[in-house]
Amino acid sequence: MPPRLLARLERELACGAGLVAILDYDGTLTPIVPSPQTAILAPSVRTTLERLATSDRARLAILSGRALADVRARVALDDVIYGGCHGLEIRGGGLAFRHPRVRTASLVRARRTLVAAAEAIPGSRVEFKGLAVSLHYRHVAPAWRRAVRELVTRVLRGVPGLTLIPGREVFDFVPRVRWGKGEAACWIAYRARRTLPRGGSVVLYAGDDATDEAAFAALKGRALTVRVGNGPSAANYRVRDVREMQVVLRRLAVALA
Ligand SMILES: [Mg+2]
Repeated sequence: MPPRLLARLERELACGAGLVAILDYDGTLTPIVPSPQTAILAPSVRTTLERLATSDRARLAILSGRALADVRARVALDDVIYGGCHGLEIRGGGLAFRHPRVRTASLVRARRTLVAAAEAIPGSRVEFKGLAVSLHYRHVAPAWRRAVRELVTRVLRGVPGLTLIPGREVFDFVPRVRWGKGEAACWIAYRARRTLPRGGSVVLYAGDDATDEAAFAALKGRALTVRVGNGPSAANYRVRDVREMQVVLRRLAVALA
């Protein structure tokens, strides 16, 4: 249990503050599983999220590297702000954003190169996410991993204007527009706070990997940040795993009721 975090949140909420909760999906709300398709939200977690999303005193955002439609389908709740492709696209809860400088031509070119080359790499899979394109290599045998790295280098050299975000056995190619989870979280926090009743609010951000570290840094001094799991982190607080995160969310739902 993370008693310091709970004490802090419950103290703030007991004074009547509102809450903006911005949560990562994989590794934060669902355990990391062998295949990203099977990262299903547990019904009990959905119930807790629904309580947060429908509270007059809270706004809930889910921010993920997944495609917007994918994360929205997995959470499947109204009144939630969804951020897809590391925040390049945001929709829901009365907000709508699509990064204005994204040019899809580079992504289309990257996809074409990846699809053509991935056919020759057994186990690899290309996913087009709209504002990002991903090369999954979880099922690629070790002997073929070098071919994956070479393909990634070839795409970065051959297609201008892209940035690489390495994930868990996936490489995400995103437009180089200096916009990630950090910028997206600040964007969401600012707007969501304005829709809460007056009288102050607390922003909570929770995530488990390197892309979330950018958000912890961007929100420094402006939010309570929570790292899920091990590893060096700039977050203010840490919970051990997804289960502890669920405890925190349930306590928040109770405190807001
Ligand atoms: Mg994650």
